Parts: sequence; structure tokens; C-alpha cells
Amino acid sequence: MTLSDSLKRYTEYINLIEANYLKKFFEIQKPYIHCKEGCSACCEIGEYPVSEIELMYMVAGYKTLSEDLQSEIIKNVDKIKQERPANSNEVYLYKCPFLLNKKCAIYNYRAIICRTHGLLFYITDKSGKTHNKMPACVSDGLNYSEVYDPVNNTISPEMWAESKIPVEPKAYNISREVIMSNAKNAGFDIAFGESKALIDWF
Ligand code: SF4
Repeated sequence: MTLSDSLKRYTEYINLIEANYLKKFFEIQKPYIHCKEGCSACCEIGEYPVSEIELMYMVAGYKTLSEDLQSEIIKNVDKIKQERPANSNEVYLYKCPFLLNKKCAIYNYRAIICRTHGLLFYITDKSGKTHNKMPACVSDGLNYSEVYDPVNNTISPEMWAESKIPVEPKAYNISREVIMSNAKNAGFDIAFGESKALIDWF
């Protein structure tokens, strides 16, 4: 299978995940979702892990942009690399280089993690225990803040009852690792390749 075959399959798969799952989850959880145009909280500070195939898709989006926008993105990448402390083993958090004027310049080509930004999801640890992952903006009074208990960093059933919001705040099994590993079961043979922080690809 060539890389371009994988990219084609990845495109089909991610469009299916978007249409059949993510869009629906955002719709169901609407009372808790405060995402709107111009809000870029999820892209202002993060690590943005992406696999090789996701990066290829992002680059395909980058190639559709004007030379001016491309050069702004390159400048952003250079700035992040200059500002990043050398020889540090700590996770480095930065503003995504594709964020231009508070909008994603490659929105249709964005990575898996970007597509789940804003939803409540869970991960399962090695012992089988699940852990909810809050959207970063919960502490800014945005997504799920109506039912968020900051002391225990969790969704509070009591706060949900008090909120009178009829829809249950639900965590979905949509970590990027799960979305990638489900591709095969969904009939998509995709070579995702290595994953690393977006900035480490440059
Ligand atoms: S690629 Fe787009 S959606 Fe993803 S973090 Fe960057 S600006 Fe945000």
C-alpha cells in the first residue's frame, strides 16, 4: 500500500468519523458546548500530537493556501522553534502554528485531536479504569462549566441535577488513540505511522 493510498483511506475514514460520530456527539451535548467562531482556546496552548498520515493531510491543506498564509505559518513554526527551550525533556506547550487570526487556516484538513476539541471524552488506563478528560476551556467558564466541579476536576452529578439541563453530560470514547485503532475494525487499512507533537515534525 502506498502512502497516497493510505492518505485516501485516511480522508475517507476521518470524514466518516466526523459525520457518524463527532458531529452527532457535538449535537447531543449542545447545551454544554460553547464553541463559536473566533474562540480558539483549544489551539492557543497545547502539544497537538499528530501521526504521520495526519500530518500529510495537514500539509495537503497547507498547500491549498496562498503564499502569504503559507509564509505566516512558516514564521509561526520558526518562532515556536526559537522560543522552545533547548535540551528540555518537559512537554512543550505552544500556540498552534496553523492558527491565524484566531481561525484554523487548514480547518478541513485538521488533525484528529483537533476534531475532538471541545468534547468531554475518556481514556482507559492499563488497569481498565476510565478517566474523564475535560476540554481545556472548562476552567474558562466555557464547555461543560455548568456541571464542572473544579475541586475534584470532574463532572458533578449534583451540579447537573441543579442545572436542570435535560441532557446528561456524557464522556465519549473518542481519544485519538481509540479513533486510530478503530480504523481497521471499520474496514480502513491505514498506515498512520509515527505520532509526535506537531512542532516536532518541522
Ligand atoms: S490545526 Fe487547526 S484546529 Fe488543530 S490545533 Fe491547529 S489551529 Fe487548532
